[in-house]
Amino acid sequence: MKNYISILFLLLSFSGISQQKSIDQKVNELLAKMTLDEKIGQLNQYTGDNTLTGPLTINPNKEEEIKAGKIGSMLNILGSEYTRKYQELAMQSRLKIPLLFGLDVIHGYKTTFPIPLAEAASWDLAAIELSARVSARESAASGIHWTFAPMVDISRDPRWGRVMEGAGEDTYLGSKIAYARVKGFQGNKLGDLTSVMACAKHFLAYGAAIGGRDYNSVDMSERMLWETYLPPFKAAIDAGAATFMNSFNDLNGVPATGNKHIQRDILKGKWNFSGFVVSDWGSIGEMVNHGFSKDKKEAAYSAITAGSDMDMESNSYLYNLSQLVKEGRVSEALIDDAVKRILHKKFELGLFDDPYRYCDAKRQQKELNNPENTKAAREVAAKSIVLLKNDKKVLPLSKDTKTIAFIGPMVKPKRANHGFWAVDLKDVDSTYIVSQWEGLQNKVGKNTKLLYAKGCGISDMSKAGFDEAITVANQADVVILSVGEAPNMSGEAKSRSSINLPGVQEDLIKELQKTGKPIVILINSGRPLVFNWTADNMPTIVYTWWLGSEAGNAIADVLFGDYNPSGKLPMTFPRTEGQIPLYYNHTSTGRPAKNEDDKIYVSAYIDLQNSPKFPFGYGLSYTTFGYSDLKLSKQVIRKNETLQLSLTVTNTGKVAGEEVVQLYIKDRFASIVRPVKELKDFQKIKLEAGESKTVTFTIDNDKLSFYHENLDFASEAGEFDVMIGSSSEDIRLKSEFELTEKTPAAN
Ligand code: BGC
Repeated sequence: MKNYISILFLLLSFSGISQQKSIDQKVNELLAKMTLDEKIGQLNQYTGDNTLTGPLTINPNKEEEIKAGKIGSMLNILGSEYTRKYQELAMQSRLKIPLLFGLDVIHGYKTTFPIPLAEAASWDLAAIELSARVSARESAASGIHWTFAPMVDISRDPRWGRVMEGAGEDTYLGSKIAYARVKGFQGNKLGDLTSVMACAKHFLAYGAAIGGRDYNSVDMSERMLWETYLPPFKAAIDAGAATFMNSFNDLNGVPATGNKHIQRDILKGKWNFSGFVVSDWGSIGEMVNHGFSKDKKEAAYSAITAGSDMDMESNSYLYNLSQLVKEGRVSEALIDDAVKRILHKKFELGLFDDPYRYCDAKRQQKELNNPENTKAAREVAAKSIVLLKNDKKVLPLSKDTKTIAFIGPMVKPKRANHGFWAVDLKDVDSTYIVSQWEGLQNKVGKNTKLLYAKGCGISDMSKAGFDEAITVANQADVVILSVGEAPNMSGEAKSRSSINLPGVQEDLIKELQKTGKPIVILINSGRPLVFNWTADNMPTIVYTWWLGSEAGNAIADVLFGDYNPSGKLPMTFPRTEGQIPLYYNHTSTGRPAKNEDDKIYVSAYIDLQNSPKFPFGYGLSYTTFGYSDLKLSKQVIRKNETLQLSLTVTNTGKVAGEEVVQLYIKDRFASIVRPVKELKDFQKIKLEAGESKTVTFTIDNDKLSFYHENLDFASEAGEFDVMIGSSSEDIRLKSEFELTEKTPAAN
């Protein structure tokens, strides 16, 4: 029996290798036929024209360039019809090398899901993977081979507009989510027609832009890069990410796009990444603006040398690489390496067998109208909602409530729920997006009367609508007030110095509070906002982010208790912008505050405490959870030993609910100052009312290890605190253990 199994294994691995070889062989054979110019063409990516609206017109220059083999990939071409037309042009080129079609499918294609930061609040890896899976299926049916997602940049600065695209501030949570998203996009196998290539971006440290200003410089220690910013990228590779995108920022003085250390040494060297790297939009040419490259020719030289394989939109490669090769400054072997990486993916996608296999109008029609996708979007959206306050137990609302006033600038617009980076498809109207108003209408019975008033705009300063809002509120038993940011207020190039509720929205809240009615505040946004008056004075607050096309239904599900909210904040909510960057896993200074009033000679502001408004990992439920019986399998562990931890969680309330049980660790003394606590594991569990479950965690050497000054990843002997929390601040159970010997861990 044993022998048969080994033979089977041998055969299986042999067929795997031979398939791998055969793609390599095909790539080499094709490469041998290519002229230098054709090779360079493969490294060139352009955007499409008139793709979002209007008739299909192809810029005549691009048409000629595609036929001449000068373009290897196009982005922003939408729909099976468009992609087919472009592919037909590529089939007129000498070697008929198919084009790759890339697009920013960031949180859905036709069916839109919550923005990535909102999804991160679900702490539900299966839901996050499902969202990417559906997005992949829809876009792949529309001719797309490649999404420029996930963005795996850690960010501790909510002023940065692109926090909406990531998984928040924490490296552990961010790495788990990066893995889930790549798996979701790529499915079981590239080329199976339900998957698209993922692209881990932006390499590297883009989320640490100084001052939270998009595109800004980053200057940080190598150790910090390894500890905080690199792990989610490594997780993306572990999940099989086919591509990487570099970033606009300079890192320690060298633009990421021309940064050999991160792309050649770390990514393609130490990590042995076999996919390809695309530049960010125009970022090769932008090295001239950085003052790093004298002109685009020098920029092309730096980028290709540093390991950027494909040039998105700056045409620096197209016009300069062949000259650089002729001058002997760039070897053809370097170009070949980049071309091979790209061709390999085209083969894996099956495009040489059938260049049109992704552009299938029938499949597109079917996938884009699949009710399963809508169902998934609704579930993921409900899971992403965070209940911030429910002091008076106003929620969940009764479906028999007689009169509900739904007020605010976010109630009726559909597009507002879509958020930044939603793909606006031509020929697809927005009726499939469920507005918050429609969601409420769908939910309540015919005996409930719904009243509406806009109240005010999102950012304009007019209070003209206040009176009507007050009149409407006075007629209602309950008021739901939906406020927030417009979709163009968080996203790329959307950094804000003040992250308040824009315009007069908080004034509207104050006015409505005077009616004395029970008020539920919904806050829709792409980032953590500062809303102190509301947080201090309004007893019922729900954070609804931008939830996508099923926003209205998902919000209604939560408001009426059909879904018990389970989201937890993936980012710290500061009290004021002056505290930023504020994050839970900070280190302790030599002068830490002992309590919130202790502001003399400690690392604090004289006018404000250090604590956040709402901490990382925080979120309420309609039920309550009790934590008890923390047990450690050992009090002392030695080299290569693991430690088992178990505890009991009980649903102590009256309804079923989900809880995210969070495990934090603190290394008490180490040769590198360690954070006051670090998330090392979590589990999201569901409990019926009164039910108890045992939750177990395993602590292994990796969880105790950290990067040393010499970049060794290893643990140090000593004492550790272990904390089990319902949030990073709400620690329910504590214990400690000792590690007795140094344990080397794999990188
Ligand atoms: C963004 C990328 C995006 C690219 C293509 C750039 O401006 O930084 O994240 O993938 O545009 O749209």
